[in-house]
Amino acid sequence: MIYKTKNPKVRHDPRTDCLIWLQCQSGEYGSKWCPTRKRMIGAHRWMLERVTDEQIPDDMAIDHLCRNKRCVNPAHLEVVSHRENRNRAIAHIRAMEEQQAA
Ligand SMILES: [Zn+2]
Repeated sequence: MIYKTKNPKVRHDPRTDCLIWLQCQSGEYGSKWCPTRKRMIGAHRWMLERVTDEQIPDDMAIDHLCRNKRCVNPAHLEVVSHRENRNRAIAHIRAMEEQQAA
């Protein structure tokens, strides 16, 4: 799925197809005010909820398949458990280390 947006808060990267969040940022992630929760949430979470029209439980993590933490392209995001997300992050770091060692 390729999600095109006219939303001015994002910039499309034609090389990776990432949608880079340009507005508010919290740490490495984009962030957005959530009126339902009355607090800031990850911009990627907000975008995914907007597209799917479903609230993602707070105890679920969102994995950036493209490894770009500021990306909010729903096609690059997958809802996973925190355990799965951590395992994937560790696997990614190991792969990067092996690549550097080679
Ligand atoms: Zn992306």
